[in-house]
Amino acid sequence: MEIVKPQWKKPPPSANDAASTLPLYRSAPSLEVRLEDFELYAIDRLRVLKGISDGLSRGKRPEEMEKLVDDLWKEHMGHPLPSEVTNKDIISHFVLRLVYCRTEELRKWFLSNEIVLFRYRFLDDYPDEAQRLLMAELDLPYKPVTTAEFEGVKEKLHLVARSIGPPKLTESDAIFYKVPFEEVPELVAGRRVFIYKGYAYVAMNQVVSLVATQFRGLLSKALVLTNRKWTSTIREQEKDRLTPIVEALCTSYLGPDYSQPKEFAEVSIKDIDQVAKSSFPLCMRHLFEKLREDHHLKHGGRMQLGLFLKGVGLKLDDALAFWKAEFSQKVGAERFDKEYAYSIRHNYGREGKRTDYTPYSCQKIISSTPGVGDHHGCPYRHFSEENLKAALSKMGVNSGALENVMDKVRNRHYQLACTLTFESIHGSSNDAGINHPNQYFSDSHEIFKSKNNPSGQGEPLGDR
Ligand code: SF4
Repeated sequence: MEIVKPQWKKPPPSANDAASTLPLYRSAPSLEVRLEDFELYAIDRLRVLKGISDGLSRGKRPEEMEKLVDDLWKEHMGHPLPSEVTNKDIISHFVLRLVYCRTEELRKWFLSNEIVLFRYRFLDDYPDEAQRLLMAELDLPYKPVTTAEFEGVKEKLHLVARSIGPPKLTESDAIFYKVPFEEVPELVAGRRVFIYKGYAYVAMNQVVSLVATQFRGLLSKALVLTNRKWTSTIREQEKDRLTPIVEALCTSYLGPDYSQPKEFAEVSIKDIDQVAKSSFPLCMRHLFEKLREDHHLKHGGRMQLGLFLKGVGLKLDDALAFWKAEFSQKVGAERFDKEYAYSIRHNYGREGKRTDYTPYSCQKIISSTPGVGDHHGCPYRHFSEENLKAALSKMGVNSGALENVMDKVRNRHYQLACTLTFESIHGSSNDAGINHPNQYFSDSHEIFKSKNNPSGQGEPLGDR
């Protein structure tokens, strides 16, 4: 795949252009891609894969996952030009392959979510004919059962179908593949398949497992090869152009911009303690409490909390007064004015360039590495289990929910743990999941607003 700047050229047709077939992404297509599409398409696919990963971590059932995958795909993977939809699919896959080939952990994440995506697309979006084409492309050595043979075993197949679900054998359900029974141990063990003369009669809707296994093998090998190419040549060759994009993509924040507060949000100093208790996520509550306690925060903490406070609407004058009131107890007002006031004004864009100073996303906070004496970072990732449990209980998470939260933490689903905390405290679900501390704040505010004022009229935060 060649990356060009800046204009789009119609790619030559390739095997992957068969819109009716689910691509197997066997080899990178020879097409030219604009640099911005290289990144934007990848971000769109990443939203789909992240949504899938969240759905799985939340323990969604297969039918819920089916709907989720369908919704995510429709929402993010469309293109204004119908002819480019397949190209977007293929390009985004190959870009993310580059992004996620680089470590064992990244490869594992990408592989498992791409397989889920593949499974549901295979089941949902593709007509039987396309599914058969795909099986042929995969060189699966299985042949559909002929009509004559089907007639001979129809009754038995009906019996098995009835025993595993509502009785139905429509025309498309009547497509079966004869597979050596030892190749489908799961179906055999679950008695979900009819076996005759050493062959299992695998229904079309069960074939997906065979196909997904093949696809997993192909993709797994391809990721290892891509990694070799990445480390031996691409990373160096592309160090001024693609490498920075590739390296940033897997930690990029995909949600809304919280650099400016929403209209409703205007936190003043007099409200701030109350608002911190009711609507700050744990990372910010912790920093806030430490600041009140120690009258000081190190640089990482000042940045994390300071930018968050800007995002929730604390005005510059209030921010200066707030930080000064605390810091002057420790270092004196004069030293505060000299050493600390500048960086607060900087965060608000009054000094230097403002573009870099947007509130930190969860991804960024979770991947930070706080040192001794630092209080920034994400408590779900950086606290000991004991400290985290104590902090959550103090926040009001009940013991049932606490176990669920800790379970997610142990499995390193930190944002999901934060989402469950949010849900427990607010008594309300948060389907989008927490991706940003300022989103936590704004979702919390929305809930309080609707509880206090069902008519939907906004009211000042301090009046809660
Ligand atoms: Fe803060 Fe995000 Fe961690 Fe929640 S998940 S505590 S909002 S960094």
